[in-house]
Amino acid sequence: MIRLPGFIDPHVHVREPGQTHKEDWDTATQAALAGGVTMILAMPNTQPPVFDAHTLDLALNAAQQKARCDYAQFVGAGPDNADLLPALASKAAGLKMYLDSTFGELRLDDMTLWMPHFKNYPRADPIVLHSESRTMAAGILFAAIYDRPVHIAHISLKEEVLLIKAAKERGLKVTCEVCPHHLFLSREDIPAISDGHPGRGEVRPRLATKEDVDALWKNMDVIDCFATDHAPHTLTEKDSDNPPPGFPGLETLLPLLFTAVEHRRLSLDDLVQKSVVNPRKIFNLPDQPETWVEVDENAEYEIKASEQFTRCGWTPFEGWKVKGRLRKVVLRGKTAFEEGIVLAEAGAGKNIRK
Ligand SMILES: [Zn+2]
Repeated sequence: MIRLPGFIDPHVHVREPGQTHKEDWDTATQAALAGGVTMILAMPNTQPPVFDAHTLDLALNAAQQKARCDYAQFVGAGPDNADLLPALASKAAGLKMYLDSTFGELRLDDMTLWMPHFKNYPRADPIVLHSESRTMAAGILFAAIYDRPVHIAHISLKEEVLLIKAAKERGLKVTCEVCPHHLFLSREDIPAISDGHPGRGEVRPRLATKEDVDALWKNMDVIDCFATDHAPHTLTEKDSDNPPPGFPGLETLLPLLFTAVEHRRLSLDDLVQKSVVNPRKIFNLPDQPETWVEVDENAEYEIKASEQFTRCGWTPFEGWKVKGRLRKVVLRGKTAFEEGIVLAEAGAGKNIRK
């Protein structure tokens, strides 16, 4: 049995408020614990989005009642909330900016709308960018101009990892995360995931080429964090004419990465750095005392959606054979998960920004 610190997932879509048929604070945090994750940072593109004091309270109240692991909630940058967000910064995980096309209230149509956020948001608090390809380059330029750190969400392309490498070598304050699905899946896997339903292969950023995937592995030292971008949608929605993009990922994070350790593609030390040590540093997260996970490194099993806690009821990794089974999670001295059963009660999770 291997004992590791509890994982931190800095990129989770909890779906509450507004879309609790997909997931809520209860099921998302059960899925987290079942994946060895003891702290999640929740994204703000809910319905309504979390973008002012009222909507932040709405999300945090739901979390306080239902969360079974520790958490913090991001606020979202919109076209006209740059003046009011700094006052909320101490209560938020950080500021999330959607620089590529997004719908609704978090839409930032041009760069003049980025400026006040970079200028006003407290310098010591994290800014996370959804920015793909050349938009990412623009985001890094903003970080340089405003001389403040930025964290790039879910990189997936060779050009992205190479540009971040160059930016780091130049001394720019940029960090980044990668999702397991961009490390273990490429475009070539879409037919198998889809199984006749093309919507199931839809995710943003899209699954990339084999060459992109290889470049991420080759430049693993450039990558600061692993993050799931857990984005649950029901199968009915995924199989509809207008399928929403996104994969669930919380419960497959640990077994996939552990299997990579087993195959010597990743060291155990690297796994802990990118799942615990670096996210803690980048997002100013507190230590979780008496918190650990126990993994049976020799146990082999098959990933099955039917055994998962996420409400969405499917996984793009259905049937994958993995090695390394999570046996136990202890959160602040209490057993929170053991042998497939979530033991932490709703409301046991702590808001780490409180
Ligand atoms: Zn996301």
